[in-house]
Amino acid sequence: MEFNKEQNIFGIRVLSDNVIWIWRNNKSAVVVDPALAKPVIKYLKSNNLDLDAILQTHHHSDHIGGTKELIKEWPNVKVIASKKEKDRIPFQNLSVSNGDKLRLLNKEVEVIEVIGHTRTHIAFYFMDKVPVLFIGDTLFSAGCGRIFEGTYKQMYDSLKKIKLLPQNTLIYCAHEYTKSNLLWALNHEPENQNIKNKLIEVEKKIALKELTIPFLLEEEMKINLFLRADNLKIFSYLRANKDAWV
Ligand SMILES: [Zn+2]
Repeated sequence: MEFNKEQNIFGIRVLSDNVIWIWRNNKSAVVVDPALAKPVIKYLKSNNLDLDAILQTHHHSDHIGGTKELIKEWPNVKVIASKKEKDRIPFQNLSVSNGDKLRLLNKEVEVIEVIGHTRTHIAFYFMDKVPVLFIGDTLFSAGCGRIFEGTYKQMYDSLKKIKLLPQNTLIYCAHEYTKSNLLWALNHEPENQNIKNKLIEVEKKIALKELTIPFLLEEEMKINLFLRADNLKIFSYLRANKDAWV
């Protein structure tokens, strides 16, 4: 577990490689993609925090699994999810669409639709000391989400949307896949010094049991082959190659 003091965003590792993000102030918290409820309840209660909202990026069980139990503890919590996923994200009570703006923890949070991993998927973006993006399973450090339900074109277009955000955006993804992604990327670009340096940095963090995420968009533009793919054909080749590699 780690606490990013700059952003007031705290990561809890659960299951094999999921990270639940808790964004908080002194009184309230917003939780992103709670795979499980117990560790979230423990953290919020021990810090005397009220749960204001649950953000759901997509319907997978390792993102919504804890929501039902959290609602039992905080019956007035807002459960914010895509209105296209009312069936598969059943507890949502605030349904949103691309471009919607929400007021959470005194910040304006924008909904950005990023389809590809699933047939719909949303991200949440807001401006703090630096811009913050909760991206779910669309982008990982040195990698991107598997295309389970969408098309290569949808995922490629979603990554293009992310690239248009400010370069100092801090990106909070939902899985700790960084090291294996870097090993794959290095296999493609063995001379890429940025990838080599990042791998050293990540191995140090892992040895210290620290999270390797969030990550900076600016840095990612140097090491993430999916973000750097110049066209859909290259992107599709890389995604298929990565699927076969792991
Ligand atoms: Zn997923």
